[in-house]
Amino acid sequence: MLKLNSHPSGRHFLQIPGPTNVPDRVLRAMDYPTIDHRGPEFQALGKKVLSDIKKVFQTKSHVVIYPASGTGAWEAALVNTLSPGDHVLMYETGHFATLWKKMADKLSLKPEFIGDDWRRGVDADKIEARLKEDKAHSIKAVCVVHNETSTGVTSNIAAVRRAIDNAKHPALLLVDTISSLGSIDYRHDEWGVDVTVSGSQKGLMLPPGISFNAISEKAIAASKTAKLPRAFWGWDEIIEANKNGFWPYTPATNLLYGLSEACDMLFEEGLSNVFHRHQRHGEATRAAVRAWGLEILCQNPAEYSGSLTAVVMPKDAKGEYYNADKLRKTILDNFNMSLGQGLTKLSGYVFRIGHLGDFNDLTLMATLSGVEMGLSLAGIPHKSGGVLAAMESLQKSVTPVAQIKAA
Ligand SMILES: *Cc1c(COP(=O)(O)O)cnc(C)c1O
Repeated sequence: MLKLNSHPSGRHFLQIPGPTNVPDRVLRAMDYPTIDHRGPEFQALGKKVLSDIKKVFQTKSHVVIYPASGTGAWEAALVNTLSPGDHVLMYETGHFATLWKKMADKLSLKPEFIGDDWRRGVDADKIEARLKEDKAHSIKAVCVVHNETSTGVTSNIAAVRRAIDNAKHPALLLVDTISSLGSIDYRHDEWGVDVTVSGSQKGLMLPPGISFNAISEKAIAASKTAKLPRAFWGWDEIIEANKNGFWPYTPATNLLYGLSEACDMLFEEGLSNVFHRHQRHGEATRAAVRAWGLEILCQNPAEYSGSLTAVVMPKDAKGEYYNADKLRKTILDNFNMSLGQGLTKLSGYVFRIGHLGDFNDLTLMATLSGVEMGLSLAGIPHKSGGVLAAMESLQKSVTPVAQIKAA
């Protein structure tokens, strides 16, 4: 074992917005011998996870699973559907949208970035207006991030679909759901998405290491003529092998054990209950932030994220922000809790509270207690009572067990 500091008692609180806390059930499900990935036992597992994951994407179409982080699935979405020099329309919701755009540049695509201030979601009207201008249909794909993990803002994907339809434009719709799948309602088929990208280590409660492309028939058709080079990421051989529950190469077998268990857990709770739980926890977290007198980074209440909340630090007398990373260090050192840092443009003055994955009311309360105590210890000006405000928010929206039993 890698020797870290002396063992702190109790559990580490991994409240970054991914990777998230891996539940014991998933850890235990993975703690089995790796099996022959060409044998009959594997086939049953392969078929089960491929069927289960479709329900999570709310699709009847193909879902491809890669042994890769989410970044790999981003690349797969682009290289399977596009050709060198293709124009793609992307939207600057924050750090992750910017990284995806940079990747498109590296892959010799021509991304056009609709700029914004990292405090709101995708403005579908801007997409519609730009597509209407593109009479020659030179834009081949629209790429957006559903839940921008750097800002805590969730975009309206159905509205983006309508924008493309209103412009009568044939562009493909590619959506990143790496931090929303399994935590915020997402409907691949109903919203007419062509490629949905996701990853294992956020709402799905798994360790990092596998990622996904959910693929429409239109995207499959586009892949037949797309010219970007691809080998490992190519959908065709994987989909062919998946028909029998197998992969063309060694899959991440033990992570698939975990995926099977994680899907069981999501279905036992019920997807709509899972989404509702995340919304409630987002609401309670925001109640705490407001009570502390701090600012929520997301400026449009309709776009508040259910999976994380990004918080802006207050300013001192000289008009400079108190340092968010010092606050995070105080909280890590004293309470063994990790919070998300401010990424790139937001570095140093924003921190993020992850409230997604394997999470309940009391984990949220412990998380917020750690933040409130940290604010005091780090000498950050704030009002006390955030934890109380969150408790009141949760109490208002709790369904008492007695009522559930009677129903
Ligand atoms: C985490 C994340 C990524 C990057 O995924 P990796 O697994 O780190 O490669 C991309 N997009 C979003 C929205 C994310 O939250």
